[in-house]
Parts: sequence; C-alpha cells; structure tokens
Amino acid sequence: MTHILTLNAGSSSLKYGLYDATDPPRPLTTGKVGRIGGTARLSPADGPARDLPGVTDHATALISVLSELHNTHPKARVTAVGHRVVHGGLDYDAPIRLTPEILTKLDALSPFAPLHQPHNLAGVRAAISAFPDAAQIACFDTAFHRNHPFVNDTFALPRRYYEAGVRRYGFHGLSYDYIASDLAQHEPDLSRVIVAHLGNGASMCAMRDGRSIASTMGFSALDGLPMGTRSGQLDPGVVLYLMDQEGMSPGQITELLYNQSGLKGLSGLTNDMRDLEASSDPRAAEAIDYFTFRIRRELGALAVSLGGLDGVVFCGGIGENSAMIRARVCEGLDWIGISCDADRNAANARVISPEGSPVRVMAIPTNEEIVIARAALALG
Ligand code: AMP
Repeated sequence: MTHILTLNAGSSSLKYGLYDATDPPRPLTTGKVGRIGGTARLSPADGPARDLPGVTDHATALISVLSELHNTHPKARVTAVGHRVVHGGLDYDAPIRLTPEILTKLDALSPFAPLHQPHNLAGVRAAISAFPDAAQIACFDTAFHRNHPFVNDTFALPRRYYEAGVRRYGFHGLSYDYIASDLAQHEPDLSRVIVAHLGNGASMCAMRDGRSIASTMGFSALDGLPMGTRSGQLDPGVVLYLMDQEGMSPGQITELLYNQSGLKGLSGLTNDMRDLEASSDPRAAEAIDYFTFRIRRELGALAVSLGGLDGVVFCGGIGENSAMIRARVCEGLDWIGISCDADRNAANARVISPEGSPVRVMAIPTNEEIVIARAALALG
C-alpha cells in the first residue's frame, strides 16, 4: 500500500492529511501546525495538541509533522504529495505535477499573492527535500475560475493592465471544486447554482453546470464579501485617502485591510462568528447585519450573471454550522425562489429549503483536502 500526503501551507499554519492511495483516497489522519513564527503548536485531529519549541518556519514545521506521522503511521510510504497553491496565474486551470521549471514560474506569481504564494511554495520545497522521490502535485485556488467570461475577468483599467495579469482571478477554488463534484453526483438536475463559502475567509461563486462563471473574489483574496479580518469590497478611493491623507504605507494598509477589518474591525470585538452571535454588544449585531447584507447583495448579482437560479449551497465553517446566518441570508427572498425551512435549517440538514421549493437551498460540508488528495492520486 502506498500513501498520499496533502499539505496546505498558510502564512502561519501548515495543515496536513495522510491518505491511502486508493481510488477514492481513504483518509487516515489530518492535523495542523498553527502559530508558525510564534509559539508553534501541533494539533492532530485524533490526538492531543502539543507545543513545538524550535519550529520557526514551514520547513521545521514539516519535519515535526513527518515525525508525528512516523510515530502514528510507521508503515506509511508516501509516493505523492499534493499541495494547495493559491495562485496558478493565467497558465494553470488544473492541478499539475511540479517540475523545477514550473516551480520557477509559480515563484514569479508571488507578487500577485505576496501573503500566500511564498508560504505555499516554501511548503513545496520543504516537501521536495523530505520526499525527493515522491511526485509533487500543485492544486491551485484560482484554477476553478479560469474560464470566466471577459466581463467577469477584467477591470475597467487601460487594456495593458489586463494583459499584464491584473484580472479577477477568484479564489477558494478547491472548495468550489469539491462542491461541484458533490452536486454532480447527488444533485445532477441543478444547473444554475450559487455557492457561498463562508468561513474566516469568505467568497461566493456562480456555477453553471459545475463550472465557475463568476466569483466575488477578484485580483486578490480581499475583494467581495467582508471576512473575519478582511474588508471585502472597498471603494479604491478609500485606499487613496489612506495614502494621501493619513500617510499610510503599503505595509500599513495591507495590515489594515487583511488583518484588522471585516467582522473584527466592524465589531471592534472578534473575527469569530460564534462569539459575535453570542454577544449582546450592538456592534456585534451590526457586523452580522453587514455580513448578511453583503451576501444577499452578491446573491442578487450572481443570480443575474446566471440568468436565474436552481440551487444555493452554504459551506465553510459559518455556512455549514450557523443556522442563524443561513436564515438571515434567506429572509424575504421568496420572490427569487429562495426560502428556508426553520426545522431543517436548525437541524443542519443537507437540504434546508421546503419540499418543492423552486430553488434548492443546501448546507454541504466542503472538503478541500480530498480534492488535493484526488489530484495527487490522479497525477502522482
Ligand atoms: P473556517 O475558516 O471555514 O474554519 O470557518 C471559521 C468560522 O466559522 C469562524 O468564524 C467560526 O466562528 C465559524 N463557526 C464555526 N462553527 C460555527 C457555529 N456553530 N456557529 C457559527 N459560526 C461558526
């Protein structure tokens, strides 16, 4: 028996999964190293968490993950490693087996995603030195969205910026890919579907027959919906104001828009939806109001892009678990065919719309890791 390792390297975390290389891949264990760069901590899904003194970067975090896997699965023989890579640029619309040349091309995309791409590629390089003989497969967050029509791919800037790659790429592609495959299998009658991936990062995708035609995320993972700590859509004039009038540097604006805004910035309390729902502070209620208002606004816009609507899917930590947010999003949308059955919704049922509803509203747990594992199996 051979095995597949999946790695998802974020700015301060490294998530991993070990799978039997069967078709479909069978999960053996998953886990995460968090707070890399601070007091790193290993949290296996099926064991006690522990601090990792001496782990300062992704390479040393991977060494700790491998020693954990060696202890728990001593016979594992990893022949393929699947990586989540945020940006595939214009060239990659599907997972690919990495070569040194492709890795160099992906390095060149780092300016498009400076907070993510370098960490993803550091994870790839660490895995190459740990498993020099294994196939290394990259799975891109942008790939699922590569076929958007021009009007959903461009900004109204002079043409040369589009040619230089300043486009609406869209992200969360692995999650949408998973939902598309789930829908193809279980809901083949649905053609026009809007998927709301609502987690600490949040975006929405309009799919026609399982293919993305529009996304709320654009050039960066800042656009669209407000998120845990990210602003979401912003008038670019605000950025000019911050630079001109408040004298903020690019680094300070980056910190503001990525880490201090969204639910956390609006509430002044937290980025965590559970805590906001439990809070009696009126600012928490206003942050939730803004979050649901923007989801509803984008729902309308994406329904127009699709020319109608057959299904809505909620996924991500908030989408899968928060009956309150789902109910708030669906409120008063009967005119577009969307409604939500209170009992089904409270029970986190798969289908939460009433029987016979014109639009099937669903809550489906997403699984980005299995998408990576499937690609590693296919290309490894
Ligand atoms: P993710 O990034 O997909 O892990 O999602 C994280 C977000 O999901 C956080 O804001 C959590 O507070 C939120 N979340 C998880 N479980 C629940 C729940 N039962 N109710 C409301 N929000 C939840």
